[in-house]
Amino acid sequence: MHDEPAVQVTGLVKRYGARTAVNGLDLAVPRGTVTAVLGPNGAGKTTTVEVCEGYRRPDGGTARVLGLDPVTQAGLLRPRIGVMLQSGGVYAGARAEEMLRHVAALHARPVDPGVLIERLGLESCGRTPYRRLSGGQQQRLALAMAVVGRPELVFLDEPTAGLDPQARHATWDLIRELRADGTTVVLTTHFMDEAEQLADEVVIIDAGRAIAAGTPDELCRGGAENTLRFSGRPGLDLASLLNALPADTLAAELSPGMYRIEGKIDPQLLATVTSWCAQHGVLPDHLAVERRTLEDVFLELTGRELRV
Ligand code: ATP
Repeated sequence: MHDEPAVQVTGLVKRYGARTAVNGLDLAVPRGTVTAVLGPNGAGKTTTVEVCEGYRRPDGGTARVLGLDPVTQAGLLRPRIGVMLQSGGVYAGARAEEMLRHVAALHARPVDPGVLIERLGLESCGRTPYRRLSGGQQQRLALAMAVVGRPELVFLDEPTAGLDPQARHATWDLIRELRADGTTVVLTTHFMDEAEQLADEVVIIDAGRAIAAGTPDELCRGGAENTLRFSGRPGLDLASLLNALPADTLAAELSPGMYRIEGKIDPQLLATVTSWCAQHGVLPDHLAVERRTLEDVFLELTGRELRV
């Protein structure tokens, strides 16, 4: 029972009229992890999360959240989860602090709302009605409301969209603390660096299906896609360098004196490059082996075309 994932979605299908938003999606969120759900616009992330929150009924497949059916067992599930929606879900006339205190009072063991207000930099707008808060302040209040009840599992839909860098970092710190306290976090985001920073697990979805899953490390691994960069004097004879390297290696001078080598970057290749440099009187500066980023992987898997 303890090993059961916090969220287990199997073969999920969800249609809006003729449009299939989610098309046989599988997703497992291990307990106590931060899992980032990534995908292009319209991929079906929000719909999937809304099914897990019990706001939408699946047309096919199943969703189990903390071992419960989110629709038929909503009464049992709701008190155990926290939800941050993309668009508030807050009464527009309510004052920020009043709202948060109200939500806190609904829970048995809430976090002190004053502490959250301070943590998220909302002190100056505690008495401001929700509709008069800036977009970033509304986001931060929504986050505070999602976590104030110390949920076992929290769903954060694009929690840092539209936030300034300070608020973004404060949000990241809060998410790290949630994980340290054993809370399971499911977050959707378009920021690949956010997923790299926070996520234990990443699921990439496209056209309503999960197309890749793993730790950021696992997804970014792949020797062939690594690159080696260095700087040296401009105009090095790259044809001569390539002669010394395996046949499928590529080399380019990106800008005068800045070089990139692509291929299977292993210790042998590194030794060959530095020895070639020594033979040609080149001191390779800023020599670095760089891995693919999550953004590289995301674009490889989902393509570069804009979604309509
Ligand atoms: P984004 O990154 O843009 O937030 P998303 O991955 O969260 O996108 P969803 O919001 O789940 O995607 O939408 C999936 C598809 O379902 C889209 O084509 C969208 O237009 C459609 N859709 C979503 N909600 C509705 C709705 N209430 N009625 C009709 N179609 C909808």
